[in-house]
Amino acid sequence: MLKPFAPGCAKGDPVIETAPTPRARVQAMKEYHPPLGCRDSLRLDFNENTQACSPKVREALSAISTGALTRYPEREPLELLVAAHLHLAQSQVALTNGVDEAIHVLFEAFLESSDEVLLPVPTYTMYEVYASATDARIVPVQAADDLQFPFESLLAAITPHTKIIAIANPNSPSGSMATRAQIVEIARRAPHAVLLVDEAYFHFCGETVIDLVGIVPNLIVARTFSKAYGLAGLRLGLLAGPVELMRWVRRVLSPYSVNSLALACLPPALEDTAYLDWYVGEVLQARADFETALDACKLRRWPSRANFVLVEIGARHAEFVRLMRSAGVLVRDRSSDPGCDGRVRITIGTRQQMQQASATLNQVLAAMKAQL
Ligand code: PMP
Repeated sequence: MLKPFAPGCAKGDPVIETAPTPRARVQAMKEYHPPLGCRDSLRLDFNENTQACSPKVREALSAISTGALTRYPEREPLELLVAAHLHLAQSQVALTNGVDEAIHVLFEAFLESSDEVLLPVPTYTMYEVYASATDARIVPVQAADDLQFPFESLLAAITPHTKIIAIANPNSPSGSMATRAQIVEIARRAPHAVLLVDEAYFHFCGETVIDLVGIVPNLIVARTFSKAYGLAGLRLGLLAGPVELMRWVRRVLSPYSVNSLALACLPPALEDTAYLDWYVGEVLQARADFETALDACKLRRWPSRANFVLVEIGARHAEFVRLMRSAGVLVRDRSSDPGCDGRVRITIGTRQQMQQASATLNQVLAAMKAQL
């Protein structure tokens, strides 16, 4: 029942005695609050580019007029450009507001109540978030202690109800990869399911299945500009898939969700391959140096093909993350991920940044040892 006015409310504000309730599945969702506050330190917690985007992107941003902002964003020319860059047809590519929107839209378009979503875990959290907002059932497939891609268990988990299989490749937080042959086999064994291969960290490993888009009929690949390109704040990603699947994605996708600033930055981001190569090269060298430093500290780590490394800290993981933060280095506790208790993920930045990270790590470990 709605009362027209009650004390404490502005006159005319209706007071809702029985608040509208969301769908049961939404009520059952876990809250997800990534620790995004107070990040003016060395950001080794969200796998972003830790330095900057290309200076050419900066120039494009500076050149945007206020008049240009009065117009709704026009994505088609940029989709054409990205499609050409990926050697695909425009009808096979959709730009999105980050890969997160891509996942959301894909799940919205395909998942019904009788469907199952197969998720090799641990993996990127937002698959679970968006899947749990639908009426489909999530089927987690746990990786072994080595956190390698659980290929055989995933094949065994495929049923006639499997509708989406989401694979981050390289995976986060493990840094491990499914091989091309494994991906093709999964697609073949689940022809009734969409196989999403999320290549957010592609630039750091160089391996892709994007060339199989349109050839493997149920394969959709996601890419982001948030990582190597250094544009996480702009929110720019894409889905690439066969026309027959992309037309359903486009039905659900907002035509306005990628804003004009992001669209204006796309051509220089794609063009400046020298910048991209420099940043990726820097991260790969820094990763090798940092892995050596971790080994010297006798910390267990998992081999990574991405711009981060998962490290075993043990029972005192929360204290470790807190002490690193106090010393100016943000790292991410992944203890609540399935099979990751005591493990912390550390993003790899430039060599100079990782020297700072190693020094801080050594100080923090020494301080923790002293307290024993
Ligand atoms: N996929 C994976 C595997 C990720 O790790 C992340 C971000 N951490 C994303 C997608 C999100 O990408 P975007 O910023 O484009 O939404």
